[in-house]
Amino acid sequence: AEPRWDCCTNTDSLFFLPPAETLMDSTTATAELGWTVHPPSGWEEVSGYDENMNTIRTYQVCNVFESSQNNWLRTKYIRRRGAHRIHVEMKFSVRDCSSIPNVPGSCKETFNLYYYESDFDSATKTFPNWMENPWMKVDTIAADESFSQVDLGGRVMKINTEVRSFGPVSKNGFYLAFQDYGGCMSLIAVRVFYRKCPRVIQNGAVFQETLSGAESTSLVAARGTCITNAEEVDVPIKLYCNGDGEWLVPIGRCMCRAGYESVENGTVCRGCPSGTFKASQGDEGCIHCPINSRTTSEGATNCVCRNGYYRADADPVDMPCTTIPSAPQAVISSVNETSLMLEWTPPRDSGGREDLVYNIICKSCGAGRGACTRCGDNVQFAPRQLGLTEPRIYISDLLAHTQYTFEIQAVNGVTDQSPFSPQFASVNITTNQAAPSAVSIMHQVSRTVDSITLSWSQPDQPNGVILDYELQYYEKDLSELNSTTVKSPTNTVTVQNLKAGTIYVFQVRARTVAGYGRYSGKMYFQTMTEAEYQTSVQEKLPLIIGSSLTSASGLGTQRRRGFERADSEYTDKLQHYTSGHSTYRGPPPGLGVRSLLVTPGMKIYIDPFTYEDPNEAVREFAKEIDISCVKIEQVIGAGEFGEVCSGHLKLPGKREIFVAIKTLKSGYTEKQRRDFLSEASIMGQFDHPNVIHLEGVVTKSSPVMIITEFMENGSLDSFLRQNDGQFTVIQLVGMLRGIAAGMKYLADMNYVHRDLAARNILVNSNLVCKVSDFGLSRFLEDDTSDPTYTSALGGKIPIRWTAPEAIQYRKFTSASDVWSYGIVMWEVMSYGERPYWDMTNQDVINAIEQDYRLPPPMDCPNALHQLMLDCWQKDRNHRPKFGQIVNTLDKMIRNPNSLKAMAPLSSGINLPLLDRTIPDYTSFNTVDEWLDAIKMSQYKESFASAGFTTFDIVSQMSVEDILRVGVTLAGHQKKILNSIQVMRAQMNQIQSVEV
Ligand code: AMP
Repeated sequence: AEPRWDCCTNTDSLFFLPPAETLMDSTTATAELGWTVHPPSGWEEVSGYDENMNTIRTYQVCNVFESSQNNWLRTKYIRRRGAHRIHVEMKFSVRDCSSIPNVPGSCKETFNLYYYESDFDSATKTFPNWMENPWMKVDTIAADESFSQVDLGGRVMKINTEVRSFGPVSKNGFYLAFQDYGGCMSLIAVRVFYRKCPRVIQNGAVFQETLSGAESTSLVAARGTCITNAEEVDVPIKLYCNGDGEWLVPIGRCMCRAGYESVENGTVCRGCPSGTFKASQGDEGCIHCPINSRTTSEGATNCVCRNGYYRADADPVDMPCTTIPSAPQAVISSVNETSLMLEWTPPRDSGGREDLVYNIICKSCGAGRGACTRCGDNVQFAPRQLGLTEPRIYISDLLAHTQYTFEIQAVNGVTDQSPFSPQFASVNITTNQAAPSAVSIMHQVSRTVDSITLSWSQPDQPNGVILDYELQYYEKDLSELNSTTVKSPTNTVTVQNLKAGTIYVFQVRARTVAGYGRYSGKMYFQTMTEAEYQTSVQEKLPLIIGSSLTSASGLGTQRRRGFERADSEYTDKLQHYTSGHSTYRGPPPGLGVRSLLVTPGMKIYIDPFTYEDPNEAVREFAKEIDISCVKIEQVIGAGEFGEVCSGHLKLPGKREIFVAIKTLKSGYTEKQRRDFLSEASIMGQFDHPNVIHLEGVVTKSSPVMIITEFMENGSLDSFLRQNDGQFTVIQLVGMLRGIAAGMKYLADMNYVHRDLAARNILVNSNLVCKVSDFGLSRFLEDDTSDPTYTSALGGKIPIRWTAPEAIQYRKFTSASDVWSYGIVMWEVMSYGERPYWDMTNQDVINAIEQDYRLPPPMDCPNALHQLMLDCWQKDRNHRPKFGQIVNTLDKMIRNPNSLKAMAPLSSGINLPLLDRTIPDYTSFNTVDEWLDAIKMSQYKESFASAGFTTFDIVSQMSVEDILRVGVTLAGHQKKILNSIQVMRAQMNQIQSVEV
């Protein structure tokens, strides 16, 4: 850099002046300066020397002895060059007036500085005028030091330096003028400059050169730009340039971004060298990669883990990469019956982490065959199954005599990231024999004065085959020591020889080869009192001659009773039903040839047994599911071929669903496997919201499974029994409508179910009923396990649900399914009552043959009972089709008033047979006419004389009343009583309609 003269003067204050841009410097002139003077006798250009003895051009004036001095010296035109404020530095010496002998009083030691702005070099000898205004006065300049004697060598000459500034200036340029008015002085040097703030890099940003403002106090804001690879931290970075060309304190800052560190005094952001990283923006430097990690390039913001090492989401970037733990070691197991203690030592290698935990995988490896499956939900783990922090666990509620494999997985925070499964130690154990768990609840099936029939469900953990049950009971008011025990090979027992109207305490326990399980909790049941018994008998047998009981009254309002009853003739419970009295007014019955009813284009069901290889049918109609997608969780029932379980199915790309899983128990024959899977081949052909949906089958691993949608409320019959009286008629009709819709679909597919019954309808959590049970095997002759199915020629038949033509000559059609549907309606409306109660199958067959039909269940709307009767038409061609049933039910749902009328005889207990040919009393004017119509004319007189002359009074007649008027023949008693009951029912019905 060129030496600047102002840095070499003895005036210290100039030493640190910031950079300035010179506009004019008299010392650099190589020839005469040639400034304009006025008048010519005033200022004079002289060559001289500066303090370093360099030649310089100066101006002098010293007219102190002449009066009225006004000497002007004007510079040449000086270009402004963008400056807003101009600084003028003057070096001069002034003679001390007092040192001049005889000097007049007019002697001065000061001079004035002026400027004049102009856009071009316009000055002449006379312009601008030599006077203040047009000139602008900057200041009067006085010497700090004056001198008294001039040394010719110039060395003692005292040189003053003064700086003045002015602004704002805006024209292209200006002139300066120095006015002397009677002094003796020498203007040694004049330098004209402006100030600017230089380009700087400060706080990580570059600020370009910025000119100072017009006033000495001005601050000119300058925006900085972050240096390469630096970024602003919150506020935009700014610096202010002041009038002296100095940058003031900055606002904001830039910092090197992640992967870059600040070097060279903060002027450069350099990429982190390989093997180091910087995770975030900031001042800190790059740091070395943590253990087991490395960089892939310079400027790394993090280090990647070496192969086989990982970082958990919450791990800080400066933490070493870690790996999965090795397997737990030295597992010790100790089995105690059906529980187990497992202990182990921690893995040799924790993977470099502190967050090691253990998960236990439990697999049960059922009776020998096939793969292990995950244990069900019932197995208990203490303190828990997953996330164990201590190397031990207590596992209980395992199945007895079962082989289990436990895997103890060591897991830490990076296990999820590793493509490998956790390392584990495994242990195989076999549980010991264990007694069955306790029965949880008992139900009363029926009772009489001296007996109670109870049933219960199998214990949750039978731990083996249940050999029998032991029921212990005693009178509640007596000591337990007096208890009696009875054994039962099944889960139901009738306890006899009890006292009437007495409360008994019951407990039951199951027995397996391992011995007895715990007793269930105590449950209390009471036998009937004599009075209760009489009432029930009287309701069922109103014509016990000589009975002192009053007749049943308030038929429509009678409370529902249990199903308990003394043995009685079935005709007491059934209605006589004469064919041809159908209220069904639909189109003429179909041709009975089902194939003709099939809509063209409609899919037809294909019997899997028509396939030469039934496995082919399975492959065609059922999707094969990989066992790894299935999670078996709980046993929920017993199917024909093995357990029925609940669980979850997670097919790839689909969400997990709740499913029912039917298993084929091990040791099956090829035929059993075929029969088992035939259900899937059938179900797989159906797709209807009221038909159970098949998810698929598992045939490639063992056990073989059929997986269907899960129906939370299980089978309809038990569901209704558990919720006796809980639903509105509309809800029940809604269920029936669903079943009918499912059956219509099946009938349209040409499929005959043959076993439509409430037990084969499943109910989901939304009360949607779906037809299920498409297995055919129970009809087969060789299965004797279920008494519902009675052997008949060519197969087994559920007698109570089956139409007569199907029982007699195996004519199974959709019309016979309609009959069964009528029975299902009855089951539904009676909340799961057994059709035909405890009548024998033979009695049922005989009764049906003689046109007796089930009476309306309690509170059953007339319209529904009529529909049942239609379904039970002897001539199958007269029965409605499922489509018509759906329509009829839809109409009822749309018009609930149609369900208000209760069916006649809708009393609590099942009523005596009713000859449905009894005429309507409303079509007669008098009791006499009515007696004529029921062919009981011979009693007209006795009725009249006893005062039974209006229908109102007649309808109130009791059994005794009938006896009193002299009706002694049992057949006549029956006829009259039945007719009176029909009359009452009709009166009730009229009232209900009026309501
Ligand atoms: P099944 O062999 O079809 O008669 O089934 C036996 C029992 O398992 C039934 O009575 C139901 O209680 C139960 N069950 C069968 N399938 C299902 C299902 N899809 N959802 C819920 N429970 C079912």
